[in-house]
Amino acid sequence: MKLSTEILILGGGATGLGAGWDAALRGFKTLVLEKGDLAHGTSGRYHGLLHSGGRYVIRDPQSASECAHENALLRKIMPSAIEDTGGYFAATPADPADYADQFAAACKTCHVPANEIPVTQALKREPLLNPNLSRVFEVQDAACDSFDALHLLAGAVKSAGGEVFLRHRVTEILKSGDRVVGVAGEALKTGEPFTIYADLILNCSGAWAGKVAEMAGCSVKVTPGKGVMIAMNSRLVNTVINRLKPPSDGDILVPVGTVSVIGTTDTAVPDPDKYAIEDWEVDLLMEEGEQLVPGFKEHRALRAWAGVRPLYDPGGADSRLMSRAHALLDHETRDGVPGLLSMVGGKFTTFRHMAQLLVDAACAKLNVERKCVTADTLIEPPGAKLHTLPNRLAALERPLDDPTTRPPDPVICECELVTRSQIESSLRESGSPILNDLRRDLRLGMGPCQAGFCAYRAAGIIREYFNDHSTTGPPDPLTNFQLLQFLQERWKGERPVMWGHSLRSLELDLHIYHNILGVQNLPTEREMEVYPTEKTS
Ligand SMILES: Cc1cc2nc3c(=O)[nH]c(=O)nc-3n(C[C@H](O)[C@H](O)[C@H](O)COP(=O)(O)OP(=O)(O)OC[C@H]3O[C@@H](n4cnc5c(N)ncnc54)[C@H](O)[C@@H]3O)c2cc1C
Repeated sequence: MKLSTEILILGGGATGLGAGWDAALRGFKTLVLEKGDLAHGTSGRYHGLLHSGGRYVIRDPQSASECAHENALLRKIMPSAIEDTGGYFAATPADPADYADQFAAACKTCHVPANEIPVTQALKREPLLNPNLSRVFEVQDAACDSFDALHLLAGAVKSAGGEVFLRHRVTEILKSGDRVVGVAGEALKTGEPFTIYADLILNCSGAWAGKVAEMAGCSVKVTPGKGVMIAMNSRLVNTVINRLKPPSDGDILVPVGTVSVIGTTDTAVPDPDKYAIEDWEVDLLMEEGEQLVPGFKEHRALRAWAGVRPLYDPGGADSRLMSRAHALLDHETRDGVPGLLSMVGGKFTTFRHMAQLLVDAACAKLNVERKCVTADTLIEPPGAKLHTLPNRLAALERPLDDPTTRPPDPVICECELVTRSQIESSLRESGSPILNDLRRDLRLGMGPCQAGFCAYRAAGIIREYFNDHSTTGPPDPLTNFQLLQFLQERWKGERPVMWGHSLRSLELDLHIYHNILGVQNLPTEREMEVYPTEKTS
């Protein structure tokens, strides 16, 4: 395949899709290339917090103000991916007493709205919180579902006239003299090579940005900062809870969908594709959770996972101390390599602003003046709703009220209320037979039973769908392989938290899949590993 475009974006995370949306809205012929599926990178493995800015007010005031501004803006333009949980900064007995006053003053300076409330009021709203809190500030934190956000953004790129190619891995940057003129790579689904020429290339590959820049002969030091998170079985809190102390490990608890997530750790790793979850990280997060919610360790931990922060490191600092701010790199002035810009660092919360700066710089490079309109453009279709269990339940119950409208839709994943028709419409839209893609699109298998009862049903639906809806054909090795990969991925996340209730639940899943269904004996074919395998976690 050979193509050409005006703006080519490498990386389909929040930053790349944000830039694709912005560039397409400004009228550029735009193409986004992503080596995996949507939310394959860090954007799909983050803590889920739309920052109020409070976390950064003392150490990184510029990031704090930027978060506060973007938080307010994203609520307006992307409401169906955001749950307005609100947030608390709460001082536990283990936190430094003098931090609260510094925090309050810094919030004022950075224009981060923060309002001190009586501890009793906070405890009334969040009864599981530590009763010995000394001070509590209310802030404008929210939870943002990145799977939903990225699906919306990809749709917005396309609606604005741009294109998004998933499973297209860039392996080479093409140059004419010193100038970057295009890329070459491989379509992972078909194995077909591609070459794409562009007037300008934007490197938005997050923690991989150093590797991508290296293909153009530029040195960009991005330190992958690994962060581990643990999903607890239920919403222990309905408000984002931050510890009132300088940022450190395990100091934030975020209610996300049906679970709550404690995180994170932060350790620099040499390679964004090679990292493991260590026992000490799980122990530390569970211990810190105890400070916020006494008895935390008695609750069921569902699974642990990790992501890698794309920390830009011009100086070699410790990864917790490195700025979360973004940096825009013009490789023409920096390295003598025209045709390539990189956006590195930053946060999910600030993706829109980062994209704006990047596309502003692209306009300057291409000598055109086109105004950014993303701050005033709704990303989603009108009427789109936040992906919550009550919304899904209401949709399921509607036909029951009036049975003439349509037959009831069978529920395939009970924990997340995913129905057969939702699965079929996702398969129709993505064209992907991969169970993990269904998980990212619909949250299938992400609830309390961790796919104990839905993965094999969904695999059957996938097989039917991609075999002309036949149920009698021979066993499909591709579906089998995908089922095994999906289960492997689920179990990989459960393994680090295998004790007590989690261990019992995992044993149940193992008995169902191994002893009742015999998944280990299903026929598969090795060469089907053409799809990118999931990262180690
Ligand atoms: C543990 C953790 C918790 C976090 N919590 C929060 C939080 O609560 N709130 C917040 O605002 N931020 C948070 N962040 C930060 C935030 O997640 C990231 O800054 C943001 O998601 C980065 O987005 P991105 O698009 O730059 O990178 P990514 O999402 O990683 O996207 C880069 C993409 O480039 C693709 N790519 C790489 N190489 C190639 C190639 N050769 N060809 C094609 N594609 C390629 C990758 O597959 C990837 O999908 C957290 C980060 C971590 C690690």
